[in-house]
This record gives sequence, structure tokens and C-alpha cells, in this order.
Amino acid sequence: MAKCRVCGAPAEAYLDYSRTYLCPRCFNDYYERKVRATIQRFKMIKPNDRVLVAVSGGKDSASLLAVLRKLLPDVEMTALYINLGIPQYSDHCEEKFKKITEVLGVESLVFDLKRELGFSIPDFRRTVYRRRLCSPCGTIKRYLMNKIAVEQGFSKLATGHHMDDIVETLFNSYLHGDVEQIVRLKPVLPSTHPKFVAKIKPLWNVTEQENLFYATYNELPVRTVGCPLAKGARSLEQKRYLSSLVEHIPNFRHVFLSSHMRKLLPALERSITAPPLKECKKCGMPTSGEVCAFCRRAELVLGKILNQSPKFKV
Ligand code: SF4
Ligand SMILES: [Zn+2]
Ligand SMILES: [Zn+2]
Repeated sequence: MAKCRVCGAPAEAYLDYSRTYLCPRCFNDYYERKVRATIQRFKMIKPNDRVLVAVSGGKDSASLLAVLRKLLPDVEMTALYINLGIPQYSDHCEEKFKKITEVLGVESLVFDLKRELGFSIPDFRRTVYRRRLCSPCGTIKRYLMNKIAVEQGFSKLATGHHMDDIVETLFNSYLHGDVEQIVRLKPVLPSTHPKFVAKIKPLWNVTEQENLFYATYNELPVRTVGCPLAKGARSLEQKRYLSSLVEHIPNFRHVFLSSHMRKLLPALERSITAPPLKECKKCGMPTSGEVCAFCRRAELVLGKILNQSPKFKV
């Protein structure tokens, strides 16, 4: 059996990008050091911040909540779960969410889409999105996370995006020349409007596999079923392409992200100016058009634009 590179104990974690074996204890130390370094390097969290942590029931956001709680025990932190109304999935994830917030002793906030707004993600099957439900689902989640953070007075919104997610999105944006998306994808997105909360990605520098190890070694309660609506999602296909690249070049993600951050992003930022923001005619949230993407999606399923603000069930 392979031995831990640090202490010589039997190793369980193998990090392909650096060809390193670690035992669970040394892996936890390594993971926590990496996340701490990311938080410090990008000045993500100040002692007086109020942080809203988006938790989905999966291993990535569970690891995020656990590591933030451990590294920053004195920072005010609340975990948010959005129940999307997906059968055999959303309620299961909510149970895991309740368990993890209990285990870690973190305040929790649940927003139930169907109860609060009268629609759920599967309702988009009857719209032009048909089987591409991840697209409206992403828009709805991003909007609600931001709105809830702003309305509840949080200063930061932390999400569990990891290096694989980030490289996949960047890769896709480069393929399509989506420069605006490339420039928006950063470890810290500062608030540019009173109704936009600052967004942080503390897992920027850790891989999906490292989140899996961290969740496993710390016995975090995480969902055991996948989203039934993900089948055929384009993102799964992209994941497979990237995995095959990583098989040939194990540190591909690290090299790609590092060149992007050091060389390409600064050059692109100089050439891009953000579009001016207006207020959505329906909900008043900032948008570059007349009606925001959330209200347009909501209108599709409700047949009318929402005029009321989302309410809360805490
Ligand atoms: S897999 Fe797609 S539809 Fe399912 S929760 Fe994720 S984004 Fe939403
Ligand atoms: Zn060890
Ligand atoms: Zn709107």
C-alpha cells in the first residue's frame, strides 16, 4: 500500500495533478491550508463580514461550509438551501442540508421555490427549455441567492465552485469567445451595485476530487442521489472532455487556470467595460435589459410576471 508523503502512514488520497499520496489526516491539513491561502490571497473574508454560504446538499458545498466553519469560527455565517422542487431530489438534499447545519452548528435558511413563488424547476419542461433545465435552474438559483443575501443584509455570498467547475466554464467561454463571461468569473466578484452582494469562491484552488476526499474523511452528510434533470446536460459532456484531457495532462486544470489568471484575465479586463445597469421593471433588481433574466424565466412558467418580492421561510 502506498504511504503518505508527509507522515508515512497508509495513504488513502492520491492527488493525480501532483502525483502525491496522503493519509486522511495529512490530506485534511493540506486541504485546509489551501483554502486558507485562497481566502487570504484574495482577501475574501474580513472579521466583520456576514457570510451567506450557498449549500446544495452535495459534497462541494458541504466541504465549503465545513472548512469555512473550521477556519473562521468567529465569522458570522449562515447556510442557505434553495429547494427547487425536483422530485426524489430536492427534499433528499434538504434533509442532508439540515443534518450538516446541525452537525456544524451553523444557522440555516431555507427558501422553498414552489411554496414561495408558485413554480418549481420541472415546470420548465413545458417551456422552450424542455430538457435543458439546467439553464433556467442556474438563472433562478443565482438570482435568489443574490436577492436573499441582499435583503437579509449579508456582506458576502460564498459558493462551492471548485477548480473543475471554473476551468470547465472558462474553457467553454473561450471556445465561444464569451469575453464578458470570462471577465466575470473571478475568485471575488465585488459588489458593483447596492443590490448585488459581493460573491466569493473559497474553493477556487481545490479540485472536485479533493472536495470528495474532504467530505468523506470528515463524514459530512451529503446527498446520495443525483439530480434526475441533469441527464443529457451539456455540462456533463464537457466534464467528460476535460476528464480525458486531464488523463493525458494531469495538471492541465492548474496550468490553464494559472495562465488565465496571470496573463489573460488582466489583458481582457482592460478591454472590457461592464454594460450600464438599470433596474428591472418588474422586480427592481439590477439588470442590463428592461426585464431581468429571472423575471423572464418566471413569466414563462407562471404566464405572468411576478410583481411581488420573494418571501422567506426560515
Ligand atoms: S443538475 Fe441542473 S436541473 Fe439539476 S439542480 Fe443542477 S442545475 Fe438544476
Ligand atoms: Zn500522513
Ligand atoms: Zn426582475
